[in-house]
Amino acid sequence: MSGSVYKLKCPDCQQAMRVRNSVGQHLLLRSIYFQCTNVNCGSTYRGQMEITHVISPSACPNPEINLPVADATIRQAAIQREQSRQMDIDDLISHGQ
Ligand SMILES: [Zn+2]
Repeated sequence: MSGSVYKLKCPDCQQAMRVRNSVGQHLLLRSIYFQCTNVNCGSTYRGQMEITHVISPSACPNPEINLPVADATIRQAAIQREQSRQMDIDDLISHGQ
């Protein structure tokens, strides 16, 4: 069995979920397929990962993308998450196309 273990828990048995695959829908949205790591559960799910705000603007902006700038609450949450290193985005997206 391959795939990254993600921080998301199975909604049924509460065990860790593994990312089995992900598919890009467009530049701001990916569909993600999860599998429960509990062999006695065996459930699978589909979810989404979406880019919703700019926290720090790009030096190479895409003129086709116009996202809202994050407010102070979102920026503070991003700083706290960066410090706690809750998840590795590279692991999450490396299993899809
Ligand atoms: Zn489960």
